[in-house]
Amino acid sequence: MKIFYAKYILPITSEMVEDGAIVIDGNRIIDFGAREEIDSKFKDVERKINLKNALIMPGFVNAHTHLELSGVKIKEVSDFKDWLYQIIKQRKRLFNGRGVAGKIKFIKTFAERKWKRTVKRRIEEMINSGTIAIGDVSNTGKLITMLLRVPMKIQIFIELISFIEERGVEFFNVLKDLVHNVNEVVKKHNLQREFKISLSPHAPYSVSETLFKLIKNFNGDSKTSVHLAEVIDEVEFIKNGSGFFRSFLIERNGFDYSWKPPGVSPVKYLDQIGFLDKNILAVHCVNVDDEDIEILSKRNVSICTCPRSNFFLKVGKAPVRKFLDNNINVCLGTDSIASNRDLNILNELKFAREFYKDVSNEELIKIATLNGAKALGFDDICGSIERGKDADLIYFIIPNDLKKNEIYDFIFESSVCGRLG
Ligand SMILES: [Zn+2]
Repeated sequence: MKIFYAKYILPITSEMVEDGAIVIDGNRIIDFGAREEIDSKFKDVERKINLKNALIMPGFVNAHTHLELSGVKIKEVSDFKDWLYQIIKQRKRLFNGRGVAGKIKFIKTFAERKWKRTVKRRIEEMINSGTIAIGDVSNTGKLITMLLRVPMKIQIFIELISFIEERGVEFFNVLKDLVHNVNEVVKKHNLQREFKISLSPHAPYSVSETLFKLIKNFNGDSKTSVHLAEVIDEVEFIKNGSGFFRSFLIERNGFDYSWKPPGVSPVKYLDQIGFLDKNILAVHCVNVDDEDIEILSKRNVSICTCPRSNFFLKVGKAPVRKFLDNNINVCLGTDSIASNRDLNILNELKFAREFYKDVSNEELIKIATLNGAKALGFDDICGSIERGKDADLIYFIIPNDLKKNEIYDFIFESSVCGRLG
């Protein structure tokens, strides 16, 4: 057992503690509170580490990443459509193959080693900025072994993309076996607490209704991520069956001519097919109306906002203030390096503060910690400083004279922090 002392402790679920102490046993938080109180309660603890001018808080949760896309380089885009064509080209270059897991012929040797090194650098970038849990979308399953070993809580979403029903069912059968096999390994090594894997549909414009239902049914109580209402063309396609996504799918031989457009918004469509509930993590939700927000709130859906990605792709700004006012669990994601400069969650927070001026500092910090943990199903073990939770904690060395009301500004101005342990 050991005790850490720090000038400030920010637990998230309770008031900030000044001149505080945290008692940790292994990786478990035993107790925390004012220094004198902890000292009198834990007289026998010999290992005492005084961080002095420091702030201790729970680590951050990056609820939406695509680590597989590390290595993709897209400098500038004119809009989402331009990005989509660029990313398809780059993915081909990266994976040299046709698509989903098992079928990808990845260039082994040099290219693969180089790619994995890039992924490792991105993981380091996440850890150095205080990330302790991630929700990572994977199309190939190629990083599972690596992610089983990283010191973060991991939720992998194996993503399926197919608007053509039969093709989707075929992919589903392959990938459900993959999830099953990984879960066997996870159980064998007793990693269920910190490592989760499930299937995920890509988006309403790229996944058939049948596939949405198959995935939902297969996942049961597992968390399921979906890109939702990211771009206005998605709304047009689901409402009227027309516009960019129709021609895009036709061009790629992926359109189903027997399909009838649902005639409603993407959010309403997913609700009508029974997809939305508390286990759904809807990513982006930029192009939603008040009725959509009401549905997302009623169904207890979590929303992951990715401000730098949305800005880069010029798709608009998510109404985060309205989400919060409607009691929606909002969390934060960097998205992939294909639509962002880096995977540094502190940089994402910094941008979010400028982007969402009507969201308070306190709210943003909760969005980046506890809310993310809740969205990924890790809130029973991380996301806040509470007795019994894992000590997935970070610290910032602060200036001598930093006042309590300057703490948040200090966090937002930082780009690196330390991991307690
Ligand atoms: Zn994404």
